[in-house]
Amino acid sequence: MTRKNKRYGDEHLFSLRGRMIAAFAVFTVLVLAILWVFQTVLLDDIYRTLKLNDLQKCADVIERDAGTPETVGTVADGLAKKYTVCISAYEITGNGPYKNGRLLSENHVNSFCFIHNVSSSDLLNQLYRNASQNGGEYLHRMSLASMFRGGHGERKEDAGENVIYVKLIPTEKSELLILLNTELLPLDSTVGTLRVQLLIISGILFAAAVAMALIFSARLSKPIREMSGEASKLALGNYNVNFDGGNCTETVMLSSTLNRAAYELSKLDKMQKDLIANVSHDLRTPLTMIAGYTEAMRDLPGEATPENMQIVIDETNRLTSLVNDMLEVSRYQGGTQVLHPTRFNFTEVIRTTLERYGKLREKDGYTIRFEADRDVFVEADEGRILQVVYNLINNAVNYTGEDKTVVIRQTVRNEGGTDKVLTEVIDTGIGISDEDLPLVWERYYKVNDFHKRANMGTGLGLSIVKNILLLHGAEFGVNSKVGHGSNFWFKLKICE
Ligand code: ADP
Repeated sequence: MTRKNKRYGDEHLFSLRGRMIAAFAVFTVLVLAILWVFQTVLLDDIYRTLKLNDLQKCADVIERDAGTPETVGTVADGLAKKYTVCISAYEITGNGPYKNGRLLSENHVNSFCFIHNVSSSDLLNQLYRNASQNGGEYLHRMSLASMFRGGHGERKEDAGENVIYVKLIPTEKSELLILLNTELLPLDSTVGTLRVQLLIISGILFAAAVAMALIFSARLSKPIREMSGEASKLALGNYNVNFDGGNCTETVMLSSTLNRAAYELSKLDKMQKDLIANVSHDLRTPLTMIAGYTEAMRDLPGEATPENMQIVIDETNRLTSLVNDMLEVSRYQGGTQVLHPTRFNFTEVIRTTLERYGKLREKDGYTIRFEADRDVFVEADEGRILQVVYNLINNAVNYTGEDKTVVIRQTVRNEGGTDKVLTEVIDTGIGISDEDLPLVWERYYKVNDFHKRANMGTGLGLSIVKNILLLHGAEFGVNSKVGHGSNFWFKLKICE
């Protein structure tokens, strides 16, 4: 069993469904735990804090908005209704230990309020004293049960709490004594109800979480399972596959990547098959010629002419260059090719090469024109750069149009402070479609079907050109338009 296969049996692997159920369950437990803590454990504390805050807030508003005995009643009325708080306001006058308390306003909101019973001036004085000794405010708490013990003994012990907040507000002539009262009712029954509710909610939430996890995981895993099925087919060499990513962005992205990969793989496969056909065809053609001619020369008298021998030599040379090209490309691919750079007159080298090459081609009616701004020197591997120029010119001659003209142009330009020489090989031939343009640099790539093209080349020339220029760190490219011709170009740094 391979390592990859072992992964499927790995005990640390979980299905998407299992993971989602676990995640939903953990989330539900977390939500319930938070609800539980807030609704049962902390409920009483939160309730008390809010109620006491209300008292404090009312007292603050009265102090801010009603600093006089005349206005205190109106403000207290509004607050009592809004916060369900009983408010009584007294004006305290008099000197020394004997004070007079005059009732200014009174609001009865809570039924068991304590401050309504502050009828005795002793009690009022007591509250006043406590507040003034305590910096102007005083909080008094008493259980409701203790209030009604005796006469109203029917109240239970845990009947709740009465909270009285006393606030002293100094005015110009006197002092305002504000009494605020609220009831803190026992929450036991509420907590009990909430607990039962929470139990029911827990059950519902758990069921919903498991159902949602099952639905979501099924939806999510369906396209993944289908894609993995298609990928297995692809692994077996079946390129007729279609990856459907469902309707999740991520799975759709994955499916489109896989579809692209399948398309590229099928193209690669086709190219490989073409390559075998091309190479065997290319090797067979000269071999058949050589075999045919040599047999004829051996068997037929008078056939061993210099012309026939030349054909055998030419075919042998063609075979050699083909094999050399293949070797060279594999060397570039293997990264073993090294450059031997020297400084040379690039313009001069092209000029002399073209003189020789041009003469050969002129016989077939080709015109090869060379245009250059001025002579430039570069530092590069002269032999390899010449190979680039040769390959490009050969292609241009092979694919040029009716006018049989090829132009080689050298222009000097300054790019980012560096002088560079742009070399262009221009033809007016069939051109290359936008679709094929990026692929022509790949080895064994031929735009047209190989039967028609087999005599022209092996599909290795531009791959060699690309590798040489990449080794030189040179920019290169091609501009082409179908029916109008191509312009293959590369740039080298000038070295003065
Ligand atoms: P080949 O030996 O087939 O010419 P190359 O690698 O040199 O191989 O070129 C790859 C393919 O690019 C060619 O088969 C041809 O279709 C296309 N090509 C190259 N140069 C030109 C050009 N000047 N005009 C049109 N097509 C070209």
